[in-house]
Amino acid sequence: MPKTSKIEWTEFTWNPVTGCSRISEGCRHCYAERMAARLYAMGNPRYRNEFEVTLHPDLLDLPRRMAKPRVIFVNSMSDLFHDKVPDDFIRRIFDTMAQCPQHTFQVLTKRSQRLRQIAPQLPWPENVWMGVSVEDQRVVSRITDLAAVPAHVRFLSLEPLLGPLDNLELSAIDWAIVGGESGPGARPMQEAWVESIRCQCESNGAAFFFKQWGGVNKRATGRILNGRTYDQMPNKMGIMPSTEPRQRISRVSRKVDTSASRGHRSTPAHRAIALPLLTV
Ligand code: SF4
Repeated sequence: MPKTSKIEWTEFTWNPVTGCSRISEGCRHCYAERMAARLYAMGNPRYRNEFEVTLHPDLLDLPRRMAKPRVIFVNSMSDLFHDKVPDDFIRRIFDTMAQCPQHTFQVLTKRSQRLRQIAPQLPWPENVWMGVSVEDQRVVSRITDLAAVPAHVRFLSLEPLLGPLDNLELSAIDWAIVGGESGPGARPMQEAWVESIRCQCESNGAAFFFKQWGGVNKRATGRILNGRTYDQMPNKMGIMPSTEPRQRISRVSRKVDTSASRGHRSTPAHRAIALPLLTV
């Protein structure tokens, strides 16, 4: 089964690929690399190659076996557009997503050039949200690549935020997640950088999700900005402020489940109606 996720903006993780390699500063304290080393040491067969890119074709069908609608983060332990993942394997993952309209899939990459290059060969159903990670000014061109991809929802993960990101081109972007680095050796994030991004999202009509301040103890620093939390989720029908994204995601799941149990198929149209509940 896909694993329940602790990530604030999703429900489950699905990892038909594991392993990766560093590509930019945001990778310096890669959580997936640390976790893979731990799982390798524990003898987990999925991590027999530790952090080397490894395909798991037996997991390609997993979402098809899940009837309940879920929000699923694809490849939390890898980068789907890594050059060691064959084009055909990427296509098979997108085929699975296209054939599972009951779920919402979130795909995130730092390899935006390959994403842009292969995008015309992939199906882009409404239930696939495509995002790029941008940690500092040096990699903002990833946003230009993402804008060229015909995804229904395009999002940014600005985490770990390592510097100011002013004058972002957000006209094609639906959602931005901001977070500071956490764990040993975490690099600090300034409030002015976060506030600038929040204002830019507001001006461009993009949803804004503030995940965490980060630091060595992220529980201690929390996720309050301007005296409140920001948990907006993308919604093509408008953005409403939210307080408990995970609860609301579950509520959406239950809502769509109910119609499914009445014999209705969960379609993107159902989701379009349900999504406002995700938002706050
Ligand atoms: S791209 Fe992501 S998974 Fe790959 S090394 Fe960098 S942070 Fe880790």
